[in-house]
Amino acid sequence: MTQSIPGLHHVTAISGAPQGNVDFYVGTLLQRLVKKTVNFDEPDTYHLYYGNSHAEPGSILTFFPFVNAGPGRAGPGMASAVAYAVPVGGLTAWMMALAEAVVDFDGPFERFGEQMIALNDPDGLRIELIETDRGTADMAVVEDEPVDGGFHSVTLWLDNPDRTARLLTDVFGYSSAGEASGSDENRYRFLAAGQGRGSAIDLITSDAASIGRQGTGSIHHVAFRAENDEVQMAWQETLRGQGFDVTPQIDRQYFNAIYFREPGGVLFEIATDPPGFATDESMDALGQELKLPAQHERIRDQIERVLPPITIPQRKAK
Ligand code: ZN
Repeated sequence: MTQSIPGLHHVTAISGAPQGNVDFYVGTLLQRLVKKTVNFDEPDTYHLYYGNSHAEPGSILTFFPFVNAGPGRAGPGMASAVAYAVPVGGLTAWMMALAEAVVDFDGPFERFGEQMIALNDPDGLRIELIETDRGTADMAVVEDEPVDGGFHSVTLWLDNPDRTARLLTDVFGYSSAGEASGSDENRYRFLAAGQGRGSAIDLITSDAASIGRQGTGSIHHVAFRAENDEVQMAWQETLRGQGFDVTPQIDRQYFNAIYFREPGGVLFEIATDPPGFATDESMDALGQELKLPAQHERIRDQIERVLPPITIPQRKAK
């Protein structure tokens, strides 16, 4: 098998009321709202997509703002944190900007030799900003600029990381970067070969008894990239051959998706890069209009009546 996964495509999480979510990801973290659509299965709920300036795979964090959902919490068998990549030298400006905006954060810490801070989004989702060379080498450090490097990594919290580690190394083509030292022990890092955006996955274990649950502030699934349908179908075959229960291909409008549950319990997806987010509106206008797939377009009036209005804050220009 010569195919390998280049890294993360997107991460999907659950939030509370959408305005607080938009204010945080666009107003505070300076992400671009790259798509405003609805949950295709429950069209009375938004599906909001944030990404870097070019809406590239490996930068996309999406939310279902379930206004009536209870609070979630991370636990074994769930993804527990999303980390954005900051170019080396860029963290100080972020700490100053967050302090000025009265947004609390922890750190700075060092993890695997990289400087980082961590904060919670309004629903308690753990967000990390990590200085790294991976995927950010050609980015200049400018104060107050968007975090345009996309993802650094996702952390998966597992009872036993061994089988998940084997999936990453033996099937996905990741290599082990070892165990973190110091206060971060029981954290194991894996890196995709290309080492671009979103190429790291951390696996953590904890002896403390804990039970996670899906709800606001929790991550629903983690999606990896396939460059096209053909590669995705090869993954479907490979994973089925490994005994995983993989779904048929599902059309998600901006990518095609297949899903399966990894051995530690986290829902994994493999999503195609094409067609991307400029398929139903221009790259310049991403996120401004409510976009609906054909099956929901005919009930647009009804959908627009029930969706709460949201105001998109100004995202500082790059
Ligand atoms: Zn997804």
